[in-house]
Amino acid sequence: MQIALIILYGLLGAFVGAALDLVADRMPRRVPLLEGRPACETCDTEWRWLHMIPVWGYMQRRGRCPTCEVRLPWRTILLPIATALVFAWLAWFRGLGFELLADSVYSAFLLVIAVIDLEHKLILNRVVFPALWSAVGLMALRILLDLPRYLHYGYWLAAGWAPGQETALIGALSQGAGAFVAFAVFFVMHVISPSGMGDGDVRLAALGGLITGFPGALAVVFGAFFVFAPVGVLLLFFGKEGRKTAVPFGPFLVLSTWVVMLWGDGWLLRYIQG
Ligand SMILES: [Zn+2]
Repeated sequence: MQIALIILYGLLGAFVGAALDLVADRMPRRVPLLEGRPACETCDTEWRWLHMIPVWGYMQRRGRCPTCEVRLPWRTILLPIATALVFAWLAWFRGLGFELLADSVYSAFLLVIAVIDLEHKLILNRVVFPALWSAVGLMALRILLDLPRYLHYGYWLAAGWAPGQETALIGALSQGAGAFVAFAVFFVMHVISPSGMGDGDVRLAALGGLITGFPGALAVVFGAFFVFAPVGVLLLFFGKEGRKTAVPFGPFLVLSTWVVMLWGDGWLLRYIQG
């Protein structure tokens, strides 16, 4: 049963990944998501239905547009595979339930935000705002269904801040606090160096803080810089990247958010008991 769930959920992930590929294709060009059939970015040839099957469709076309022969973008094959693997792994890690739903929604948004940032060095409001609203919706569901998450409320209960039973509400407050703290840290950096830290990074940091809550948001912020620092130093010494062409920071924020979202509960528990 467990195996069947993992396989089916991975399959769902492949189709979600194909949809994310469409998002990554159209959002930067300001093309409405549901306007007409997906088509070649170069010659506008509409894809046949068979071509839209994740991975299989890419192989059918041998990685090229059948009409103009232009090479399909790398994300067309990588996003469905990556999303399928992430979803299958999440199904194994979480099992069927609310946390699987929440982490799948967050993972899908985080993946496509990272891919667009890597490709265009852009973090689009058109993608980040729906992600923020989804996070707020999931937060409201947590309160309505009384499904609090330890990462959000554990620290506050341990701190004796709110000994009552309203744990889901404490969790929601903690998520708001996490969003504010991450937003504030990045907003200050953005004001100091607008070219170094874009305003898209500020909103993405707020999303990371909202997903993980406080104090998880601090781990997201420090984690992103912890991974970014060695990569930045390496590129400074060995890369062709000058100071003008900055390395996009979004993927680092995405990675640290994702890691804290998945393993933060365990860390927090050990910290509090330790
Ligand atoms: Zn074409």
